Amino acid sequence: MSSTASVLYSYEAAQAYEQEGDFLSAARNYYECHLYYENAELTVAYENVREYGLSSMGKYRRCIKLMSQEEKSKIRADEVAMSFLIDWEDKVNYLDWASWHDRGEQNYTVTPNPEVVKAIEKSLVYTGKTCPYCGKPTELIDSTEIYGGTSYGPIYICRDCGAYVGCYKGTTTALGRLADEKLRLAKRRAHHYLDQLWKTPKQRLEIYEWLSDELHIPQARTHVGMSDEEQCNRIANLCRRRLIDRKRRNPFRRFKEWDENEATNRQDNK
Ligand SMILES: [Zn+2]
Repeated sequence: MSSTASVLYSYEAAQAYEQEGDFLSAARNYYECHLYYENAELTVAYENVREYGLSSMGKYRRCIKLMSQEEKSKIRADEVAMSFLIDWEDKVNYLDWASWHDRGEQNYTVTPNPEVVKAIEKSLVYTGKTCPYCGKPTELIDSTEIYGGTSYGPIYICRDCGAYVGCYKGTTTALGRLADEKLRLAKRRAHHYLDQLWKTPKQRLEIYEWLSDELHIPQARTHVGMSDEEQCNRIANLCRRRLIDRKRRNPFRRFKEWDENEATNRQDNK
């Protein structure tokens, strides 16, 4: 099937899923539509192809807003996995595999190609499902166990490595990869500087876009929670420099320097 025909096909499939209320499958099909559109032969001008192709990402984002928390967590894993793939056909292969996998359709199976298998494995690390230190599957437990009676919600843990990661408030979606004690401290330092740079959701988005450019990593992986020590240090240093610049322009805009002693005495699950 040509890319041009696939634009129409995936868009219509997406609309049907959306009507059924299956926003996860709808979103994945809108995303596929966008990928096909970007690579379609548009010399033969199908009006619908243009229209569908141009509106598909807007519809993708609209579907995400309507999803359950569990589905949103799957979309996050999709975006992380696809951030490791360069070829658009690999991204389509991933989306087909993910849809098949989550819909549990018995009548056909999609075999992910080797690039896609690697991307899936990496996304499991970045979403807290696999331990980055030993490679074993993690366990989802309540944080009461490690915070001596106080619960900060569920965490993914690898007991062998003493590594864990918290979840977004009220969800079982991991904040990122598992972290050992050294990385947990590096993450706190990165957040210390980063969080002084924004107040509103719009500013937060702008800061993350800026960081993604500076670090040369896709936005899906521009998160302190997905960073290793080196990346955390780069985030902290970039943000600190920006705070210094801001203060130079406006001396009234102070910022707080990182104090390691203070930080090691404080407990949180970030
Ligand atoms: Zn481990």
